[in-house]
Amino acid sequence: LPEYAFIGRSNVGKSSLINMLTKRPKLAMTSSTPGKTLLINHFQVNKEWYLVDLPGYGYASRGKKQVEKIQQIIEDYILEREQMTNLFVLIDCRLEPQKIDLEFMEWLGENGVPFSIIFTKADKLTSGKAKDNVNKYLRKLAEQWEELPPYFISSSEKKTGRNEILDYIDSINRSLKIQDS
Ligand code: GDP
Repeated sequence: LPEYAFIGRSNVGKSSLINMLTKRPKLAMTSSTPGKTLLINHFQVNKEWYLVDLPGYGYASRGKKQVEKIQQIIEDYILEREQMTNLFVLIDCRLEPQKIDLEFMEWLGENGVPFSIIFTKADKLTSGKAKDNVNKYLRKLAEQWEELPPYFISSSEKKTGRNEILDYIDSINRSLKIQDS
């Protein structure tokens, strides 16, 4: 099954977003690879795809060795996992573009990894301000990229962005099925 991975700096709202995307009666969530690894968790959604929870990057509290080990695990997953279909990079919509995120996306681009952006915690700003921030972010990306990645604006608090993200995943899954047949 195709896999869609979610990643971001710690505290960006990844767990809340994953809960919003999976914990609804409609999406019978089955837990995954028990005991296999505590660092990467898989959630099967609708028997159609896996949501993959990757560890957060840039923990200040982790030691250097630990950071390097986690970075290696993330890199191996992203570069070598055949089923990995799209990576969602989570960005807190309140923050100025952060070097660590920009460098991470640059690395994805260099390695040809398909990714999209999810701007999180939109409810913490007025909707006008959230859109302004997102546009500012996209302008910053446009300095580096010829083509901007698909993006979504979400709030796990207000449960917004959920359908857009799930529809996007479904549309990729449908095109994969057509390619296969
Ligand atoms: P993670 O470390 O990336 O998994 O982040 P969490 O999902 O644990 O969220 C970090 C903090 O941000 C928690 O206190 C959440 O309650 C809060 N949070 C996450 N998403 C939202 C959101 O959409 N809106 C608001 N207002 N708070 C959020």
